[in-house]
Amino acid sequence: MTVEKNQVVTLSYTLNSLDSEGNKTLIEETNQDNALSFLYGAGMMIPKFEEEISGLSAGDKKSFVILPDEGYGEINQNAVTALPMDMFKESGEPPVGAVLPLQDQNGNQLHGVVTAVEADQVLVDLNHPMAGKTLAFDIEILALREATEEELAHGHAHGADGHGAH
Ligand SMILES: [Zn+2]
Repeated sequence: MTVEKNQVVTLSYTLNSLDSEGNKTLIEETNQDNALSFLYGAGMMIPKFEEEISGLSAGDKKSFVILPDEGYGEINQNAVTALPMDMFKESGEPPVGAVLPLQDQNGNQLHGVVTAVEADQVLVDLNHPMAGKTLAFDIEILALREATEEELAHGHAHGADGHGAH
C-alpha cells in the first residue's frame, strides 16, 4: 500500500524553517505519540506536501523543502488592517502579539496578529504565520489505511484508528 487519494495517512514530522544561509529553526516536532493523521487528497494539507509524500509506504522516511510560493505564500506588506477600538468594547484592548480569530468578506477564517494598539484602532497583520518561510520537513510514514465511508463523507480523518473525534 502506498500513499494515494482517500487513504488516511499517519505520519510524524519535524518542521524547520530555513533561512537564506540554510540555517534551520525548529518550528514543530511530532513523534509516535502525537503523530498527524489526515485524509490524503482532501485538501487538508498544502498540495506540495501531498505531492512530496505521494507513493510512499509505511516506514518510509523523506526530507523535502517547500518554498514560500509553494506553501503559505510570500509576506504581503499590505496585508495589514485597522480594526476600530469599538470592536474591543467587550473583550478589552488586546495586547500586541495577540492572535485574533477573524473572518474576511467571503466568510473565510483567518488569524490576525496585533502589531500595534492606538487610541482609536488596533492594527492587525493578516499574513499567515508561516508566510514567507521556507519549510524543511523530515517526515516518517507511520501507518496507512483506507479511509472509512464515514471519513470520506466527512472529508476528514477520524484519527489514526478511525475512531477519533468527528
Ligand atoms: Zn468526521
